[in-house]
Amino acid sequence: MIIVKAIAELKKILFDVKSRRLITGFVPTMGALHSGHVSLITKAKKDTDFAVCSIFVNPTQFNDPADFEKYPVTIEADIYLLENAGCDMLFLPTVKEMYPEGLQHHLHFDLGFIETILEGEYRPGHFQGVCQVVHRLLEIVTPHKLYLGQKDFQQCMVLKKMADSYFPLVEVVVCATVRELNGLAMSSRNKRLTQAERQQAVALFNTLAYIKENIVPGDLHNLAQTASQQLVYRGFKVDYVSLANADTLQLVDSWDGKEKIVALVAAFLKDVRLIDNMIVSG
Ligand code: AMP
Repeated sequence: MIIVKAIAELKKILFDVKSRRLITGFVPTMGALHSGHVSLITKAKKDTDFAVCSIFVNPTQFNDPADFEKYPVTIEADIYLLENAGCDMLFLPTVKEMYPEGLQHHLHFDLGFIETILEGEYRPGHFQGVCQVVHRLLEIVTPHKLYLGQKDFQQCMVLKKMADSYFPLVEVVVCATVRELNGLAMSSRNKRLTQAERQQAVALFNTLAYIKENIVPGDLHNLAQTASQQLVYRGFKVDYVSLANADTLQLVDSWDGKEKIVALVAAFLKDVRLIDNMIVSG
């Protein structure tokens, strides 16, 4: 695996790759890699000729400075995982390399209402930061395909919207959430949990499964409320348990029995904020 830190060097290598008419796949990450990330690399390797992964803990998408400070960094283990997954190139830029003119936003991304609900509501400015960094990375890497995880359901929608506007030729591929055997969605933030807390965190998955088992046409308010209470009872501080149209992310209060519904949850276990989601209809 080639490891590059400088944009100029990365571009030189990719110019050569593309002049050989190879198809490139790109997986942007913030590191502290796990099997969820590896599944994206594996898919990129399967679909394309040259898989590029980036590791960059992007300061502009953290609305909580403490969350940024505590974000796990495991770069040597990450390199080992990527080598084993057959990744062709790792881009490892510094903040200065990514934002030579400072962290301020030069572009405002028109994301519509999606930016105002769920993660957008609880993490103001988060999605502008996510779009800023992925826009910059796509300009640098110019891949044919971009690989994202459904674990971050709303982020997939936001980035699809951004990519459609600015990089219409880039194909966005969304990969299924990889979970531990007990159902807990893999997440870099799980590294901040003790073994006992990881067991406790399975409640997020169980709550989503509860919604899936119990959803019936009609008013959904009580179902969401009960699910949220289950999490509080298990020691979580809940930001939201919400049900939304899985294609548009419009929040759904009353289900007609036909719409495709996604349940989304965000909750704190101690000071670690975890998110998960599940398609619960059909
Ligand atoms: P992150 O490093 O958390 O920014 O994630 C980088 C990419 O990996 C994003 O597209 C995530 O949605 C994806 N990802 C994170 N966790 C998982 C998971 N458990 N399963 C599948 N993809 C994931």
